[in-house]
Amino acid sequence: MQPERFDHFMARANAAYYATHDFSQDFTTAPELTQVFGELLGAWAKTVWAMMGAPEGIMLAEAGPGRGVLMADAMRVWPAANVHLLETSPRLRAQQAARVPRATWHESLATIPPGPLILLANEFLDALPVRQFVRRPTGWVERHVSHGAYVEIPTDYPLPDDPEGSVREVNEAALDFCAALAVRGAIALFIDYGPAQSAPGESVQAIAGGKYADPLTTPGTADLTAHVDFAAIKARHNAQGPVKQNEFLTALGLFQRSDALARKNPARAEALKLAARRLTAPEAMGSLFKCLALCPKGFPTLPGFE
Ligand code: SAH
Repeated sequence: MQPERFDHFMARANAAYYATHDFSQDFTTAPELTQVFGELLGAWAKTVWAMMGAPEGIMLAEAGPGRGVLMADAMRVWPAANVHLLETSPRLRAQQAARVPRATWHESLATIPPGPLILLANEFLDALPVRQFVRRPTGWVERHVSHGAYVEIPTDYPLPDDPEGSVREVNEAALDFCAALAVRGAIALFIDYGPAQSAPGESVQAIAGGKYADPLTTPGTADLTAHVDFAAIKARHNAQGPVKQNEFLTALGLFQRSDALARKNPARAEALKLAARRLTAPEAMGSLFKCLALCPKGFPTLPGFE
């Protein structure tokens, strides 16, 4: 078999993983921690719709909706939303349909009808494939995969003049996704982990059965992710942020809403408090996770990005 470019390998491995695994057993995402997360994003989207001038035919989309929990929570706040879900895994589509029966599913952005669009995406961009380059004495090479090992092939892909041994990752799929949203004038909220500034280095990791695994062995058994390069997105598209998740969620009222729910439901008070803390604590998800919003140029400051 020909060596396979690393991003092609990663796309194939993740498609196989999401088709056969319940990711929530391998890692816990924000909407799985607390219903307040999806409710705040539902309220965010509804406010953004009002800021757009409340256009008729507004569509609320989610990319990579996982088990459908975020959208189900968001729809309690915005029940009238016209929902479009972007999901490639048939297995996860079935779980989404159980929680969000009134939705339309899509393989890609291309089939979402024209019209005003607000898109939410939590831990979606990190699952998209990245190209990986390594600086060798002779120049840059691109990583490919063959028989469970890396193979390096020289490339003239334009990259900075980093020191020997440096690794660079380029998330072309994420950039293409953002470009397609920008062309249609959509407003998109991305919540994901990654540094605020682009930096050299390798961030791809594999999680299988809740533990770190070798990304190259048995594709499809592990979830492969890469840090999101927010600065690269911002360099190409009009965007607000990135702001840290703790600043964003606190500004949207995470603690007030959690407290209000806890008062109504004392049996869940402790769990709600713990979840809010985990989402915001710098050593947990509060600081590595960032929020970035794509929007048309000149759009007023979005909630949470003040
Ligand atoms: N947003 C959810 C799930 C995150 S896991 C949560 O926060 O719990 C990543 C999700 O992205 C899964 O639903 C996975 O099937 C989906 N996904 C991964 N690659 C995709 C692609 N190329 N196109 C559409 N969905 C994709």
